[in-house]
Amino acid sequence: MQYDTVREVDPEIADALEREVDRQREGLQMIASENHVSRAVMEAQSSALTNKYAEGYPGKRYYAGCEHADRVEELAISRAKELWGADHVNVQPHSGSQANMGVYLAVLDPSDKILSLDLTHGGHLSHGHPANFAGQLFEVEQYEVDPETGYIDYEGLAAQADEFDPDMIVSGYSAYPREVEWERVQEVAEDTGAYHMADIAHITGLVAAGVHGSPVGIADFVTGSTHKTIRSGRGGIIMCEEEYADDIDSAVFPGAQGGPLMHNVAGKAVGFEEALSSEFEEYATRVVENAKTLGEVLQEHGFSLVSGGTDTHLLLVDLRDSHPDTTGGDAEDALEDAGIVLNANTVPGETRSAFNPSGIRAGTPAITTRGFGEEEMQSVGDAIARVVEHHDDETVRNEIREEIRALCDAHPLYDE
Ligand SMILES: *Cc1c(COP(=O)(O)O)cnc(C)c1O
Repeated sequence: MQYDTVREVDPEIADALEREVDRQREGLQMIASENHVSRAVMEAQSSALTNKYAEGYPGKRYYAGCEHADRVEELAISRAKELWGADHVNVQPHSGSQANMGVYLAVLDPSDKILSLDLTHGGHLSHGHPANFAGQLFEVEQYEVDPETGYIDYEGLAAQADEFDPDMIVSGYSAYPREVEWERVQEVAEDTGAYHMADIAHITGLVAAGVHGSPVGIADFVTGSTHKTIRSGRGGIIMCEEEYADDIDSAVFPGAQGGPLMHNVAGKAVGFEEALSSEFEEYATRVVENAKTLGEVLQEHGFSLVSGGTDTHLLLVDLRDSHPDTTGGDAEDALEDAGIVLNANTVPGETRSAFNPSGIRAGTPAITTRGFGEEEMQSVGDAIARVVEHHDDETVRNEIREEIRALCDAHPLYDE
């Protein structure tokens, strides 16, 4: 058995991996669901646990040799309990979508009814889009944000729930810049006898740090991704009260998955340990401050923000008011060329298409990890405004790329 490096075994992949590190280093990663994990998290994720089969749960495995896997999973669980204050935690979902699948399989039957936020209003595919298993397996209706304010229309949700009589209401979103009022959704769920699943995929880190209200102890189930604002190993997580523990655990394994990705569970454990520090609280606070500052800078440049601002790590810019002839796709392409990576996004009341929508979504988790603060937000906001304004102008894009490169060099990533 040889233990060669990727470079020795497979230079093509080694090249791509190196270029990816350079790409992340030399540009601003502003996709709201992304972050830069620590070297410690990466080391755990690339550990020998990738070799281990550990079907089952700590102390109840179907395979021998699981003592270290058990230790890793127990630590991941106990740290998650401390971070989010949950009774029961399952850290095995391979992703946030798998976590949602686990919850649906635990308490719903095929053709049961789900009420969730429309994808173009900020929802997620796994909440019941027709192209997703959830949309194919269940009967789904969708609620919306108030077209005037951009906030969740809680009264509309209540009226719709009354009419539709759902078995499950889903809250928690992918492109919603405002604080979610979990109690209001829970009230609706209780009134209609539905379960309430709060999917905090994007805001796991904000909730853990207390800079966004927590649905734990309010909603029946809380799900999330573990690689977004919480900045840990890639995957998913489910939290619930003890009464649902067995149903959730058996829905994840053997219901939806086989063996857990124990190397990723190790990455989750390490990231959770980091998130228990006071530095992480400061980080999460700065993520939100940075998003607010960036929003203000963009507004000064005439951009229009859905809901008029943000309480979270993300901004949703509706380009239709300020740049009616520029699509989200135009902006995304020009910004990427200038070293600012974010995504075109649908906006409430979308008049274009999902492939080339009218908005862009920008997030501050990754650039805040790099150490960006208020001053850099001013520069980033100015740069975004200039590129969008002159998206056809190569000279502008080249100029901005140089500026961004200098900002990045001043805040190195994965140095040495
Ligand atoms: C990102 C996200 C997910 C799913 O995440 P994956 O880990 O990519 O499967 C689920 N729900 C919401 C609201 C999300 O934003």
